[in-house]
Amino acid sequence: MSENNNFDVVVIGSGPGGYIAAIRAAQLGFKTACVEKDKTLGGTCLNVGCIPSKALLESSHHFYAANKEFEEHGIDVKAKLKLDKMLSRKDGVVNKLTTGVEFLFKKNKITRFNGLGKVLGEGQVEVKSKNKTETLKAKHILIATGSVPSSLPGIEIDEKDVVSSTGALAFESLPKKLIVIGGGYIGLELGSVWSRLGSEVEVIEFQKKILPNMDDAICKEMQRILKKQGLSFRLGAAVKSVEKKGKTLKLTVEENGKETSVECDKVLMSVGRKPFTEGLGLKEAGVELDERGFIKVDENFKTSIDGVYAIGDVIGGLMLAHKAEEEGVACVEMWHGEQPQVNYNLVPGILYTHPEVASVGSTEKELKDKGIDFKTGQFRLLANGRAISAGDTDGFVRLYADSKTDEILGAHVVAGSASEMIHELCLAMEFNATAEDIALTMHGHPTVSESIKEAALNVHGRTLNS
Ligand code: FAD
Repeated sequence: MSENNNFDVVVIGSGPGGYIAAIRAAQLGFKTACVEKDKTLGGTCLNVGCIPSKALLESSHHFYAANKEFEEHGIDVKAKLKLDKMLSRKDGVVNKLTTGVEFLFKKNKITRFNGLGKVLGEGQVEVKSKNKTETLKAKHILIATGSVPSSLPGIEIDEKDVVSSTGALAFESLPKKLIVIGGGYIGLELGSVWSRLGSEVEVIEFQKKILPNMDDAICKEMQRILKKQGLSFRLGAAVKSVEKKGKTLKLTVEENGKETSVECDKVLMSVGRKPFTEGLGLKEAGVELDERGFIKVDENFKTSIDGVYAIGDVIGGLMLAHKAEEEGVACVEMWHGEQPQVNYNLVPGILYTHPEVASVGSTEKELKDKGIDFKTGQFRLLANGRAISAGDTDGFVRLYADSKTDEILGAHVVAGSASEMIHELCLAMEFNATAEDIALTMHGHPTVSESIKEAALNVHGRTLNS
């Protein structure tokens, strides 16, 4: 083995978990390599996840606003869709960010290997590319191989007619009718994109509500708002099969014990994601998986074999880019002798529809289930000056505070800019702030964030503007 292939750290996978861990490792002075099987760096997030979906959400929002909202502002336009341009803009955004990671690797002197990584056991990783197979030696191996879309039994994703999120980011023409199976955040975001652009979109969800893990108040509010925007919902319904009949797809759906059928031209399967460990050689190496295929790790991200660690989607928990990043940094810093901690109670969950949804901490149901006595404070954007000025009054801020200590236990925001607003609440909760602390903090006027102060005042029945 050449000296060049001898590293302190070898990261397998260059998604947000892997590439951020590699950068932090290099910053801490570790000689670092990152193995990625795909041509571009950045993983699911940059290539077929967070970034392209947000690019299309932004573009489709402009299109929708131009056709449906500008008139209210005294602007008379009729927008025409140039789908190919919209898609190539999205590809350009992805390219900018993935090449940005290449630049960061060079800047931090991280050696990149393009090939399939396989764990050969403690201290050794094999990299197989088209032309060669080489072995890398590493004191620490970090597996960050992420996840891939799941499907339902018997339903095959062909990425043409029955697509995963990857196919739904690249439809070459506007679907006439798109059925979204699964009312979670990926289904609602991509369903919104195509609905705004003109497709008829129906969401079929097995549970009785959309966004099943979010606060009930949010689920109701978002279903109402998205319905107003044109999406339709079939809840408590299970898709049994998808059959192709020429250009039409026929879905058999079980609802209230009865089978019905519904037709469309495209199906988006968004029923969740599963860990990706194919080709990693984990069984042979002795790395244990749980019953759902996630890599088992201890509180220091160590797998069942020494020197091999795992982070991000492949270890389960919330499958979010920022969770993967925090774990990557924490894991590497532990090797460096530091004592970092990932606060899993404060992982913000965000839905980038319009309005956006952002939550952190406990839901009302979780607090009730735990028997915690809490007070609720809510403020609707209908009474917020900035939201009224913008004509963007759908939504609210809802806070749960401990009845005895007044500490904020959960924060839930539905607002045009909820994804940006939530971090005030994350920070407040990181410092165990009380509702009174937030209520006493001066907020600039006019801002939608004033609704956070009002919701905090409302915990004590002291709202000023409603
Ligand atoms: P990944 O990003 O999946 O990266 C894993 C990498 O490992 C891939 O590049 C893969 O090619 C590589 N790899 C796998 N096996 C090997 C091997 N054997 N050898 C070499 N390389 C290998 N999260 C958010 O926080 N916010 C969002 O807005 C958001 N939007 C999303 C939208 C969509 C449509 C999707 C699909 C996901 C979205 N997510 C979002 C989730 C987010 O993308 C993931 O949580 C995140 O990418 C996980 O990061 P990771 O590093 O664990 O894995």
